[in-house]
Amino acid sequence: MLIVMNAGAGEGHVAGVTAAVAELGFEARAIPGAGRVAIGVVGNRGYVDDTAIMRLPGVDEVIHVTKPYKLVSRDFHPEDTVVEIGGLKIGAGQPPVVIGGPCSIESEEQMVAVAREVRRRGGHMLRGGAFKPRTGPHNFQGLGAEGLRILYAAGRAVGLPVVTEVMRIGQLELVARYADMLQIGARNMQNFDLLKEVGKLDRPVLLKRGMCASIDEFLAAAEYILVAGNSRVVLCERGIRTFETATRNTMDLAVVPLVQSLCHLPIIVDPSHATGNCRLVTPMAAAAVVVGAHGVMVEVHPEPARALSDGAQSLDFPAFENFMEHIDHYCRVRR
Ligand code: PEP
Ligand code: MN
Repeated sequence: MLIVMNAGAGEGHVAGVTAAVAELGFEARAIPGAGRVAIGVVGNRGYVDDTAIMRLPGVDEVIHVTKPYKLVSRDFHPEDTVVEIGGLKIGAGQPPVVIGGPCSIESEEQMVAVAREVRRRGGHMLRGGAFKPRTGPHNFQGLGAEGLRILYAAGRAVGLPVVTEVMRIGQLELVARYADMLQIGARNMQNFDLLKEVGKLDRPVLLKRGMCASIDEFLAAAEYILVAGNSRVVLCERGIRTFETATRNTMDLAVVPLVQSLCHLPIIVDPSHATGNCRLVTPMAAAAVVVGAHGVMVEVHPEPARALSDGAQSLDFPAFENFMEHIDHYCRVRR
């Protein structure tokens, strides 16, 4: 439920509504707006009888929110959220960011080479998986803690912030020691306990869309993190499962403007996992920028043919250089 105060309502009126909401057993969160204040009600499971609220002085209207999310919605928070990671800003009004790096951190040599390349070509952030959610148990599972140290050092050496995946609560403390941003992977988008825990941290989160998640489910997952207290969330479209098998997943670009109309959080696109094919990565990244994505995340590897994971979708260095030229061009087209 969203309670919209009238333009003349003062602090006393807001306090009165807050107290009334508390009396109903829910929590009120004031959302100051340009002209008037709105008060979001959280904690209710279903419809709340608004008779008592409507009678309070200063209340203009009550909007019943039927969606499974509130704090992430524009109803509750009309202004765009810009997420800051170190000095880097992701979100509306900012140039699209490029996050590049290998699928898996494989060695110091590999990671340092990629970090230098991403930096040299103008990338803004470094990625790399240390804990890998692989489809089969016989596949490379990641270097774990050693990988985190390698990623952190490579990022600091070139002056780029780093993002890496955390797969379970037990890893959170360790990963948070090294990561500027915590990635929740597609397979964990609905690991609600993990979402609640990252929500307690003061650290930006990159939340990837589950491969079978609807947009409502995607936003409800983000809601878990905001409800727990962390609103520094960036969403990431990474392709969904459809009947099509010619690409690894189907890249759902409509999600970008649609989510932007529903939700105030930034949204980026990962064309590497969405297509599974290095030849499709650059054109689809360009498309993502054109439709208004706040950034793109791509996999980059010095020798994709030898990569321990996702080689088929990884850009080698010449392809990454070409990618950056295209992205630059489309950023200019968008402006
Ligand atoms: C990744 O980005 O490394 C990854 C595993 O992606 P996803 O969770 O989208 O499959
Ligand atoms: Mn990958």
